[in-house]
Amino acid sequence: MSKQSHKALFLDRDGIINIDHGYVSKVEDFVFVERIFDFVKLFTQEGYVVFVVTNQSGIGRGYYSQEDFETLTAFMLKGFEAQDIHIEEVYFCPHAPEAKCHCRKPNIGMIEQALSTHHIDLTHSWMIGDKQSDIDLATNAGIGSTIAIGERAIKGATLSFPNILNCKRFLEENEAIIKS
Ligand SMILES: [Mg+2]
Ligand SMILES: [Zn+2]
Repeated sequence: MSKQSHKALFLDRDGIINIDHGYVSKVEDFVFVERIFDFVKLFTQEGYVVFVVTNQSGIGRGYYSQEDFETLTAFMLKGFEAQDIHIEEVYFCPHAPEAKCHCRKPNIGMIEQALSTHHIDLTHSWMIGDKQSDIDLATNAGIGSTIAIGERAIKGATLSFPNILNCKRFLEENEAIIKS
């Protein structure tokens, strides 16, 4: 990346990229959400750099290992690359909530990590997630705009949709929103 600062799209993983069956850790359980590639492309076409920021407390809870997570991440990245989508980095928090770490969303450690090696224009960046902690992360870190997906009642999001498909359609019809 150049020294120029880039707009970024921060993606939650479970419930956004893949269907959230709860603590997904195996390739055979990883199912890409319908239209997720088209959704991400709307942003990459506009020059956004894409990051994944994901709480993976299943590691800290002992449900699966960091190696399992990394194997699954490699599979996920292959899926994106096959669609000509480059994911710049995948940041994850491996800790259980009791660890009270600085990286578990809604704490901002993962965004700080991204900022330490990338020039990012946070004000013009977007965060998309399916939990309150995703939207709160954006608020806490100063990410300008947010999308909440799903049926949960989530406060403070810029935009909310029941699913990625509806969100993609809205952004296609309102392109200016992500062009500014
Ligand atoms: Mg999620
Ligand atoms: Zn953590």
